[in-house]
Amino acid sequence: MYLKSIEVQGFKSFANRILFEFHNGITGIVGPNGSGKSNVADAVRWVLGEQRAKQLRGAKMEDVIFSGTEIRKPVSYAYVAITLDNSDRALPVEYDEVVVTRKVFRSGESEYLINGNTCRLKDVNELFYDTGIGKEGYSIIGQGQIDRILSGKPEERRELFDEAAGIVKFKRRKAAAIKKLEDEQTNLTRVNDILLTSTLCPANR
Ligand code: ATP
Repeated sequence: MYLKSIEVQGFKSFANRILFEFHNGITGIVGPNGSGKSNVADAVRWVLGEQRAKQLRGAKMEDVIFSGTEIRKPVSYAYVAITLDNSDRALPVEYDEVVVTRKVFRSGESEYLINGNTCRLKDVNELFYDTGIGKEGYSIIGQGQIDRILSGKPEERRELFDEAAGIVKFKRRKAAAIKKLEDEQTNLTRVNDILLTSTLCPANR
């Protein structure tokens, strides 16, 4: 699997539609300070479902929408789409190419799409579990992040190793199964209470 392209429009400093295409090998993006290099990485983080404005170097989510310049009006929405080559089926879907899209309007209305089909944030998250690519993955390392990893809490570092080891999905499934078992236990206790009440007070039957 590899990143084939990133399409941005109205996202941060990219008012116009821009398509970044990546080919074999390493691609470097160069430019003067403040020209928008980190905004490209932010676009990828955002399309993968980042919900924390701070992680995108903003104060609120609306800050990802192009806010205008002296010569250009603000735009009403931000749009990012990434195209991944999936011919090795690293992503668990039967498509050679996977396009993940996110769009948000100033009103707060937002949508996610996978290969053109509207989906939930949960679907985007699940698509990337254990690939290292999700918003929590280790494939996007921002400025200062290495430092944070090295000096971070052991639990935070553990999350990174879990993702690399490919066990995150099992841990999440286990947590969901435990939650279900707990809910069933509560239901059983409730049924026992009802049975007990009707045994002790036959009039309630
Ligand atoms: P450096 O080399 O200093 O790290 P950089 O090339 O990585 O810089 P970025 O941090 O990606 O640059 O981009 C910062 C620029 O993006 C600033 O000029 C800022 O004004 C612009 N920018 C960020 N958010 C928006 C927005 N919502 N609307 C318009 N411009 C924005």
